[in-house]
Amino acid sequence: MAGDAASGGTEDSAHGLRRLACAGVRSLKPYEPGKPEEELRRELGLNRIVKLASNENPLGPGALAIAAVRDSGGQSHRYPDGNGFALKQSLARKLNVDPAQITLGNGSDNLFELLARTFLTPEREAVYSQHGFAMYPIVTQTAGARAVEVPARDWGHDLEAMLGAVTARTAIVFIANPNNPTGTWVRASELEHFLAALSPTVVVVLDEAYCEYVAEPEYPDGIALGAKHPNVVVTRTFSKIHGLGGLRVGYGVCHPAVADLLNRARSPFNVSRPAQAGALAALEDQAHIEHSREVNRSGMTQLIEGFERLGLEHIPSLGNFVCVKVPGGGVKIFDALLRRGVIVRALSTYGMPDHLRVTIGTREENEVFLAALAAELGHV
Ligand SMILES: *Cc1c(COP(=O)(O)O)cnc(C)c1O
Repeated sequence: MAGDAASGGTEDSAHGLRRLACAGVRSLKPYEPGKPEEELRRELGLNRIVKLASNENPLGPGALAIAAVRDSGGQSHRYPDGNGFALKQSLARKLNVDPAQITLGNGSDNLFELLARTFLTPEREAVYSQHGFAMYPIVTQTAGARAVEVPARDWGHDLEAMLGAVTARTAIVFIANPNNPTGTWVRASELEHFLAALSPTVVVVLDEAYCEYVAEPEYPDGIALGAKHPNVVVTRTFSKIHGLGGLRVGYGVCHPAVADLLNRARSPFNVSRPAQAGALAALEDQAHIEHSREVNRSGMTQLIEGFERLGLEHIPSLGNFVCVKVPGGGVKIFDALLRRGVIVRALSTYGMPDHLRVTIGTREENEVFLAALAAELGHV
């Protein structure tokens, strides 16, 4: 058989195809998702696994969303509404904006892709912070644009330095507020100063994936800022407090002219029928939102008290997760916790080798995690 020749040939063409790929994509580090629970169960044969690795809502989706997704099943042969009419109407009412300002996405990650496709070219640059969310370099480099990472200050965005990094080639500045993985945030006064000083033809993406958890008087109202600054695009998601990460639905709120551009770059049926139905129902489930917020607030206190008992430093966070500094390095403790059936996140790919990021779980999950951590550090 020509097996050898054929496999040599496929190797050669694989090599050729790699060379054909855009340089930005070739040099990308792939996104590393949290380790799935099923994978660890298979590997270790453990039956109790606690996953605190992907900032998912530990309560799951609300009952209204589950029912709506189930009810949508019978129409699965029909394409979803490509304009997302009902969901946009409901969001517009809640946020007090015009439906023409809203763009729906397959998760808010999809919004970042649409923004990159719309505004980035190989001649342009996107600015974001060190320890910033991993999707920003991915969408920037995929568009062939130059990624400009600005050193963080106290683990968070240094808006002054980011302003200083803006050039005539800058098309997008990404700001996660609060940021993942650090949980740090920018205050309204800082952000207003930044927007006033920035050229109005640079797009500012304000990524508010965790805004529903925030109870801070100085936390900026991104949508109100967008009404004053047409270059602001606020992105939000149903993946975090609403507990619908598996459905993939997020949205952007911006000036209608920008929304019109994003809409042109969008694939027509990017948000599935069950996702639209689930999101619409989740918006009405105030009880689930409030319960989720309360579980997060008390769980955050529980984890911080646990860290203090263990003598560990954490980074103050406004999200549903917190970074803790562990002796011996994040990867070592991450691996040790895995063997005890607890999945958290090591942060070496975020330039934080000494930290772990832990999602706030239920009271019981947090206890299991803290006990495993204490045992590992020899505090039993
Ligand atoms: C989780 C997260 C998102 C949203 O992800 P989607 O599931 O794609 O909506 C966006 N930004 C940050 C900072 C996040 O942590």
